[in-house]
Amino acid sequence: MIGWLKKRWGLALSLVFYVFIVMFAAMSLAGLLMVVLHQTGVITLGLDFVERDIHAFRILFNMIVFSIFIGTALAAFFSKKALQSIRKLIEATKKVAAGDFNVSVESKGIYELEELARSFNQMTRELASIETLRSDFINNYSHEFKTPIVSIRGFAKLLLEGNLTEAEQQEYLKIIMAESERLVKLSSNTLNLSRYEAIEIITEKKPFHLDEQVRLAILLTEPKWAEKEINIDVKLDSAVYNGNEDLTQQIWLNLLDNAVKFTGQNGNICISLLDQQDSIHFIIKDDGIGMDAETIKHIFDKFYQGDKSHTREGNGLGLAITKRIIELCGGKITAGGDPGQGSAFTVVLPK
Ligand code: ADP
Repeated sequence: MIGWLKKRWGLALSLVFYVFIVMFAAMSLAGLLMVVLHQTGVITLGLDFVERDIHAFRILFNMIVFSIFIGTALAAFFSKKALQSIRKLIEATKKVAAGDFNVSVESKGIYELEELARSFNQMTRELASIETLRSDFINNYSHEFKTPIVSIRGFAKLLLEGNLTEAEQQEYLKIIMAESERLVKLSSNTLNLSRYEAIEIITEKKPFHLDEQVRLAILLTEPKWAEKEINIDVKLDSAVYNGNEDLTQQIWLNLLDNAVKFTGQNGNICISLLDQQDSIHFIIKDDGIGMDAETIKHIFDKFYQGDKSHTREGNGLGLAITKRIIELCGGKITAGGDPGQGSAFTVVLPK
């Protein structure tokens, strides 16, 4: 009840109180002025008692002066409290405008000002986290961008200096090609991710066979898994899904690509697709290097790479893109695994 009253009437009651004080003061002043004017004969009032009893007039006068004094002091006291919070907010706003988002204000007493302080604090918290994300992104992106360029420059310099065997020249040219590919992948992945982050709904949907799409993804990645002689076990229910084919294809390609990348020679990958009543489940398991709890916690973060020995083969954006696409489909992705025991990823897409 008190909370509700505070919520509804906090500022209103304060205002009523201030207005009352001001009106009281104004009326007292007016009354005083009238008596003075009457006394000086400028106007004639029926205030006989004033003429009859000058003592009563003095009491009245003193009371008016006293009321004005007390009223003003009270108004000053209460408004000081309200103004203090507003002043703190103004100072904090100036700091935020100057780029310092690590500020928070406290306000107690008047409900509306408490609310304002709470919203302000929430806003600065959001701004601070966006700023951290932004600077992290720039740092990571610059790092990912710089590494291949430094490598390309180094090998191009060696080629220019000459004195290399044919085999060395071929080797260095291959590295330059691979690093250029990495740069192309980095820019297209970054562009794709920012595109998918900017949209809220998927357009150009149509029904298609998800099992066929998964089969195609397995075929497209064949050069990679065949080279490692990985055995792929496939169990696919026939499932029709209404979605955007280009987007969902990226999910299977990214997950399959990772499974192959993190599985050793002669390893095993098991892929299954289950057509359930309201959803389609895609599960991919491998017996590769696996993941520890820390890696599982961060794998969907942008630029996160758990296994440092494969950093040259990716840029840590694949799973962030995959997760965003699945979110756009209204689905969910979960990851599991243990170091040395392999990993498993489960995607659930609602129908
Ligand atoms: P990258 O392009 O570096 O692979 P991803 O976003 O696709 O980036 O993956 C992020 C990290 O997640 C990888 O660096 C790796 O540590 C971990 N990861 C992903 N898939 C697997 C997997 N199948 N087995 C083990 N670790 C994996």
